[in-house]
Amino acid sequence: MNNDLHDLFLEELADIYSAEQQLTKALPKMARAAESEELRQAFEEHLEQTQEQISRIDQVFESLDESMKRKTCKAMQGLIEEGTEVMQEYKGSPAIDAALIAAAQKIEHYEIATYGTLCTWAEQMGHPDALDLLKQTIDEEETTDERLTELAESLANPQAEQS
Ligand code: FE
Ligand code: FE
Ligand code: FE
Repeated sequence: MNNDLHDLFLEELADIYSAEQQLTKALPKMARAAESEELRQAFEEHLEQTQEQISRIDQVFESLDESMKRKTCKAMQGLIEEGTEVMQEYKGSPAIDAALIAAAQKIEHYEIATYGTLCTWAEQMGHPDALDLLKQTIDEEETTDERLTELAESLANPQAEQS
């Protein structure tokens, strides 16, 4: 069971765990910055899912009988930093929701990429319990991404364009 792919799997799990932790702090700020009620609600609901996703990662480690090493996801730090910059720049502007959605979708795509890789590795190494947990999470990330696209097209982008 101990090989480099297994180690890499644990390493990536610790990385996405850090990313999700960072998001539990960023999403409430994004919800507060949102102009439309629909977008605020989307961020708040995804915050709840994010907390559930964190506990799923704990369950993945349990299912593997492994413990997690502390790691910081630098990519998520950067994505949140960029999002914060644009949030400050467009504060009070009719384009604020379009800006928030752009930042949020970069975050979701990073998560989808990571969970996609993790699902493939779990399958390769024959970890069905881990795979099941990771699939539940990637479904939530993909649904959130689609919901954000709908909000952008129906609401945020037209509003930003009218200004
Ligand atoms: Fe997530
Ligand atoms: Fe990372
Ligand atoms: Fe997410």
